[in-house]
Amino acid sequence: MKKAVWILGDQLSMKSSSLAAIAAGTDLVLMIESLERAREHNYHKAKLMLLYSAMRHFKLELEDAGYTVHYDELGEGKNFLQGLKAFVKTNGVTELAIMQPAEAAADAFVHGLSQGIGIPVAITPNNMFLTPREAFIAKHRGKKHLVMEHFYRDMRRNLHVLMTPQGEPEGGVWNLDKENRNPIKTKISIPALPQFKKDSIDLEVETVVNQYFKNNFGTTANFNLPTTRLGAEIFFDHFITHRLPLFGDYEDAMLQSELVLFHSFVSPLVNIGLLDVMTLVRRVEAEYHQGRAPLNAAEGFIRQLIGWREFMYGCYWTKMSAGNYHDENFLEATRALPPFYWTGDATILSSGSRKMNCISQCVLKVREHGYTHHIERLMVLGNFALIAGVRPSEINDWFWECYLDAYDWVVTPNVVGMSQFADGGFVATKPYAASANYISKMSDYCSHCRFDKNAKTGETACPFNYLYWDFYMRNESKLRKNPRIGMAYVLLDKKSPEEKSDIAASAQKFFDGL
Ligand SMILES: Cc1cc2nc3c(=O)[nH]c(=O)nc-3n(C[C@H](O)[C@H](O)[C@H](O)COP(=O)(O)OP(=O)(O)OC[C@H]3O[C@@H](n4cnc5c(N)ncnc54)[C@H](O)[C@@H]3O)c2cc1C
Ligand code: SF4
Repeated sequence: MKKAVWILGDQLSMKSSSLAAIAAGTDLVLMIESLERAREHNYHKAKLMLLYSAMRHFKLELEDAGYTVHYDELGEGKNFLQGLKAFVKTNGVTELAIMQPAEAAADAFVHGLSQGIGIPVAITPNNMFLTPREAFIAKHRGKKHLVMEHFYRDMRRNLHVLMTPQGEPEGGVWNLDKENRNPIKTKISIPALPQFKKDSIDLEVETVVNQYFKNNFGTTANFNLPTTRLGAEIFFDHFITHRLPLFGDYEDAMLQSELVLFHSFVSPLVNIGLLDVMTLVRRVEAEYHQGRAPLNAAEGFIRQLIGWREFMYGCYWTKMSAGNYHDENFLEATRALPPFYWTGDATILSSGSRKMNCISQCVLKVREHGYTHHIERLMVLGNFALIAGVRPSEINDWFWECYLDAYDWVVTPNVVGMSQFADGGFVATKPYAASANYISKMSDYCSHCRFDKNAKTGETACPFNYLYWDFYMRNESKLRKNPRIGMAYVLLDKKSPEEKSDIAASAQKFFDGL
């Protein structure tokens, strides 16, 4: 009897349940880089670099811990099934363990694997998440709308995070989001990210990625993320010391010249298992208790991890267990994704060749770094696709391919659900649609833009302004009855027929010129 475990690229945790199912000295570990899988999408080069370099470093970590690892490097014609079959045959493996994959396609593959490789396959629970997905599905199956806040409060109680001994939330309130919406309008000092020097494995992987994926989106030139667990811990420590205290205050702020501001940038590392969610949560909680981080920062950060992250995972699996979340399109949006999501040049010919500065700058950030923070995703790039009526599956694929932290289980509920409202409000209570007013309030993008953020219609008007109202007019039959959107229709009803027709005409001219 020869046992082995197959570790997927987003399961780089020493605590994974599949590793616990084997013995370090005698059993085997398999890791595979599949060229066929990587070529299914036009993934950002830096995303592939992070994944493969972190996998190769994880192999060394496993070997240091006494495991024997068989590692299949990228190569033409290589895929998972062929790699698994060869491994089983060469090593006489009689039983394979795999931790339940987080993504549905991989999960389906693993469930059919035993037949493909001719030996029993044991699937162990995915312990990189705090909430077993089966429990989440059982509780929420069949519901039309879920509320993250309810889930989050349960998580705080169950995990006893930021709770008083009396069972009350620290500070007497559950959620301090209202305190976390300050723009940055004066000069403040924003800490630089720590710099990581590429080691020989990073450099080797960088060469390989640029060889196999030379025509993919993005670049590896600005790659500056850790690819080892120790590096990831140093990266997080730096956030705790330098950025956490103001994380809450400026969580929603955007600046053209800044990528990360006071965010953590840990999602690419957490999502592949280099950082463990509860370790991060307890660290942040301790910072609050020791007086080094205010409650709005600690609560805000913890809510993202044990609230939004876990909730999105559960929502994804609830949807995927009942159909295909990718195909949902509640608003029946059919427009193709404009090419400027790839080029970063959002020049609108029909508007006197003015460039939409916020969109162009955000796309350039994505191209150079594979990252923008949450508000730029939601209120600039996602917001535009929503109000322009872009097909949800197209913008979902774009986010999936272009961001370093994007995996199906997290990108799809965030894009199809939260950002595009394509699930009809399963994840979000209302569409995140906004005009230039919001972008101008929360950023400095508009002060670098030739569009007029105050004009409502016409050639010089910011397209967000008329597309916003055009969105509500186009989707009236689906949205008017939603009580959370009532105010938009109260305001729309106050507009004269001429104003409405100017809005529709400006929007049409914009679309014709795309
Ligand atoms: C349109 C859109 C697409 C998104 N795509 C992804 C994606 O592909 N991968 C991804 O991990 N997140 C995605 N998010 C969620 C969120 O924007 C990112 O997790 C966050 O911006 C990552 O940056 P950070 O690590 O600096 O986050 P911080 O602001 O520092 O937050 C801390 C952590 O909380 C977690 N988190 C926060 N919000 C969410 C959320 N809504 N869903 C899941 N986890 C969350 C992340 O793990 C993050 O690292 C998306 C959001 C939107 C609106
Ligand atoms: S005016 Fe502001 S919101 Fe409008 S396109 Fe320009 S930067 Fe974006």
